[in-house]
Amino acid sequence: MSETTPKLRAALDDIPTYKPGKPAAAGGPVAFKLSSNENPYPPLPGVMESALAAAASFNRYPDMACTGLMNELAERFGVPVSHIATGTGSVGVAQSLLQATSGPGDEVIYGWRSFEAYPIITRISGATAVPVPLTPGEVHDLDAMAEAVTDRTRLIFVCNPNNPTGTVVRRAELERFLDRVPSDVLVVLDEAYREFIRDAEVPDGLEVYRDRPNVAVLRTFSKAYGLAGLRVGFAVAHEPVAAALRKTAVPFGVSQLAQDAAVASLRAEDELLGRVGSLVSERTRVYEGLLGQGWTVPETQANFVWLRLGERTVDFAAACEKAGVVVRPFPGEGVRVTIGETEANDLFLQTTEAFRKAL
Ligand SMILES: *Cc1c(COP(=O)(O)O)cnc(C)c1O
Repeated sequence: MSETTPKLRAALDDIPTYKPGKPAAAGGPVAFKLSSNENPYPPLPGVMESALAAAASFNRYPDMACTGLMNELAERFGVPVSHIATGTGSVGVAQSLLQATSGPGDEVIYGWRSFEAYPIITRISGATAVPVPLTPGEVHDLDAMAEAVTDRTRLIFVCNPNNPTGTVVRRAELERFLDRVPSDVLVVLDEAYREFIRDAEVPDGLEVYRDRPNVAVLRTFSKAYGLAGLRVGFAVAHEPVAAALRKTAVPFGVSQLAQDAAVASLRAEDELLGRVGSLVSERTRVYEGLLGQGWTVPETQANFVWLRLGERTVDFAAACEKAGVVVRPFPGEGVRVTIGETEANDLFLQTTEAFRKAL
């Protein structure tokens, strides 16, 4: 038998693996999963029924063009169907964006720390990652990002609000940045947490993209809409970007369950957005509770909070777990904690209070 292995692309060698949020311990004490920014509410009845009805024909391939969902999205967001591309979660769409724009020798810029999928999917594409540190206030440094553009830059991610810090970039600074970026560089506004924003100065990407052919907006059904397990997201972009996305997408990537549940979710939007409102109230309660305990927390517009705990990160995550809440540590940096059920948020606030007193 030969000792050689199949030749794999060198670009894969030092790709970090995606660390999913840790699940809540099965069978342990009360355990809440606050580690993946999921929606804590179970699926709405109508949405569940649509998915279950679709399950009856999963011996068939799904509608490859996602016709029903595309039409529903076009109507809901007031954009042409030709500007929409769906995918297996917005991470799937982001990967298609890279495939459509970037390869070896090209550069991809993103703020850092930001969404941990960016470095992974960038390196898979073979392009060179150009991370630009956040400002001391944990916000995207758009000036530094504009200065990092070279003639090799193909794509720039702007995560707004930013995962894991929850911070936002506002209209004036975003417009100024977009005016500086060459028009042949694609800027991707990742708006996975759009529905949680309550700051009126944060622009809606779908308005920003209208007269900017080099802007693409990413949205997902995974967070506010509560369909994380079904894998469906979409991009809105002008041609030829949207067409390129439809070309590079995995064929039949979005299951019929996901398509039908997404349509039902858009139709149940009032109810779903009511739940988002409750989470936003809880976010305010947690944020103010933390400030009251003396923590420094960046203002968050997402469904999570960020505690920059540095060297104490891992200890803090362990204390949370002991108390029954699983959080998302980034060792040496900080902890991201999803806003969950009231009971879970209470357990988290009790832990932060005790941890602070022991410092
Ligand atoms: C959760 C998240 C997504 C969405 O991922 P899906 O693939 O749609 O589940 C995209 N971008 C960011 C920044 C996220 O945090």
